[in-house]
Amino acid sequence: MFQGPLDESLLKKARDKGLLDINLVNIRDFADDKHKTADDSPYGGGAGMVMKVDVIAKALSRVAGHGSRVILLCPTGKLLTQEKVKELAQLKQLTLLCGHYEGIDERIRGMVDEEISIGDYVLTGGELPAMVLIDAVARHIPGVVKEAESVKKDSFYEGLLDHPSYTKPEEFEGKKVPDVLTSGHHKEIDRWRRKESLKKTLYRRPDLLAKFTPSAEDRSLLNEIMQND
Ligand code: SAM
Repeated sequence: MFQGPLDESLLKKARDKGLLDINLVNIRDFADDKHKTADDSPYGGGAGMVMKVDVIAKALSRVAGHGSRVILLCPTGKLLTQEKVKELAQLKQLTLLCGHYEGIDERIRGMVDEEISIGDYVLTGGELPAMVLIDAVARHIPGVVKEAESVKKDSFYEGLLDHPSYTKPEEFEGKKVPDVLTSGHHKEIDRWRRKESLKKTLYRRPDLLAKFTPSAEDRSLLNEIMQND
């Protein structure tokens, strides 16, 4: 499941350049019995299988290096944000623990440093959430994204949504690219982009804007938005 996405595009380049090292570990390899059993039925009955704490503990003790931040991917964890991604990108090593089936024996929670959810929905296993986290974190490792500045302009980086972007053709089905973008006036373009970014955040994610500290120029742009729209 991991092989495809981790061997494509930006993540592949990052791994080839030695900026990112990913080791995949199969938890079943740490089971003692001949069937390599890593799950069992839940105490108290009910549907689904539960991943065994003893097998995972063994895997963690062998795999998680000294100082590695151990993260359990689970829907009941704290929602992943860009802030958290930036924080994790500063760390040397992360150990990502993926659940499957009904989940993991509750006693594993004492062995992890934090629990992260990628959204309020349930996936079949922790593999996709782990890959989401790896991809988001990798973008913040110096050298991974060629134009490092573009990461800083991404949505959420400084608390706003990104501005709209356009490319050729200049007109498509009667819809023209805003004149300012073809004007060549870089200061005006920057101002327009900032205003659109503030506008998008105001209308789509007022919760983000409420936490954002606007500069004097942002405040004046916000006033313009309120007056004109
Ligand atoms: N019974 C669990 C619950 O309702 O909270 C769901 C278990 S889910 C089917 C199996 C595994 O997928 C979880 O242990 C976790 O590792 C992973 N997973 C599913 N949804 C996730 C999410 N939104 N964020 C992070 N991990 C998730």
